[in-house]
Amino acid sequence: SPIILWFRRDLRLADNPMLAEAAATGRPLIPVFIHDDIVAETPAAPRWRWGLAVEAFGAALGARGSRLILRRGDAAPALLELARQTGAGDVWWSRLYGPDTRGRDEDVKERLRQEGLEARSFEGHLMREPWIAQTKSGGFFKVFTPMWRAVKDMEVPKPAPSPDALRGTNDWPASDDLADWGMGDAMHPRGIAVVSEHVCVGEEAARERLARFVAERMADYATMRDVPGTDGTSGLSENLTYGEIGIREVWHSALGRYRDPSAGGEGRETFLKELAWREFAYHLLHHTPRIAERNWRGEWDAFPWRGDNPEAEAWKRGRTGMRFVDAAMREMWVKGTMHNRGRMIVASYLTKHLMTHWKLGCDFFADHLIDWDIANNALGWQWSAGSGPDATPFFRVFNPESQLEKFDPDGIYAARWIAEGQDDPPETARAFFDAIPESWDLSPDDAYPDPVVGASEGRRRALEAYEARDF
Ligand code: FAD
Repeated sequence: SPIILWFRRDLRLADNPMLAEAAATGRPLIPVFIHDDIVAETPAAPRWRWGLAVEAFGAALGARGSRLILRRGDAAPALLELARQTGAGDVWWSRLYGPDTRGRDEDVKERLRQEGLEARSFEGHLMREPWIAQTKSGGFFKVFTPMWRAVKDMEVPKPAPSPDALRGTNDWPASDDLADWGMGDAMHPRGIAVVSEHVCVGEEAARERLARFVAERMADYATMRDVPGTDGTSGLSENLTYGEIGIREVWHSALGRYRDPSAGGEGRETFLKELAWREFAYHLLHHTPRIAERNWRGEWDAFPWRGDNPEAEAWKRGRTGMRFVDAAMREMWVKGTMHNRGRMIVASYLTKHLMTHWKLGCDFFADHLIDWDIANNALGWQWSAGSGPDATPFFRVFNPESQLEKFDPDGIYAARWIAEGQDDPPETARAFFDAIPESWDLSPDDAYPDPVVGASEGRRRALEAYEARDF
């Protein structure tokens, strides 16, 4: 009987353990993507970008004689109905690790089994399952360096090749039309028009991106990854988020002919270490799901962080008057992604200079990042705010002015994103004004604002609050 393959964030043919095993059975395969509550509630930009990934994956399956069936509704009844329509006896999927998806998948498994179907889940989103790495005493890692040592020593399975053939059926079940789902409905059409210029969608594009990075930029990654005005990083987060490329393929491509992650140059090792940060983020999400929602260190609940406020609003609009902060926020508006150094700077400025709760920034990122990743985003924010595991201490406050001098000495990044004050601003800087809501009534001809909170004033205020805390 056919096997239903329930795809979610594993929208690729290669390095997909579930698909490799399914193809090897020689049985007919019915791939399906279900628009359930979890998809519907995905924040705006990532939901839109997910739709592009689904579309590309449907085309890739089509090219192999298969199809991606689209269904809408709760996952369990949708899968049961599809099984009834196709005579499938098995439903397989690749595991996800967010608190919401975990709960859903457990329920689905139970429902399917109650109805006599075989339900099986597979690894594939991570290099190894998040419970495998353990401290010597059998606990989980709360600090990155020992986690990195564990990841370095792990045997990361070799990626499975893309299956040659996918057996389908002569009698394909009905499918929704993706356009009817309105995956981009929560995003402003102006934003879609601008961000569309920067996306890199689908498995083929992701693999090319990886190959180019490894060949051309990885050797210099250790230094160039910190320079936001250059193209020094891989850009793969956008693809990893939807599983357009597998992390094991990324790991092994970077490792190349080496067996030891520490061999073969600093650039390579630094890059592999960043992949291990992703692994660490999922390890923490698995062991402490609260990291996605609440202060990981509960004592921070007593810290006088502010909720929404006018300065935080200026932060969202790229109008704080701090050039590094504004450049990075505008980069996100235009590209749907932000350089890692920028993420660290804007998160520090929001949580420290503006004394605003990290959750506000975390949610704003989720709404605007096409590479939104529940684990990486939560860890990044809690790391920046000082409330998380292995976090930068709260009293280490980035100075956005000296950081810009250090990492953008020639002003390339700032000029790329901030139009005000330039006679002939570049396309990128002007695009910001096309991406934001018209109602904000902003123009490149406006005067650039004075800082809403100055670098040293904000630092002093944050440190005073930190000193006055009673934990
Ligand atoms: P590269 O430098 O080429 O790194 C390769 C891959 O390693 C990345 O694609 C990513 O999967 C992983 N990686 C790199 N840095 C980190 C890191 N610090 N933590 C975890 N994994 C990492 N990353 C996301 O994928 N989604 C998010 O929503 C996200 N939110 C963040 C929020 C804040 C406040 C901070 C400080 C960081 C956040 N990051 C997030 C991590 C990091 O900024 C991005 O992964 C990186 O900028 C993506 O660009 P790249 O693919 O070119 O990365």
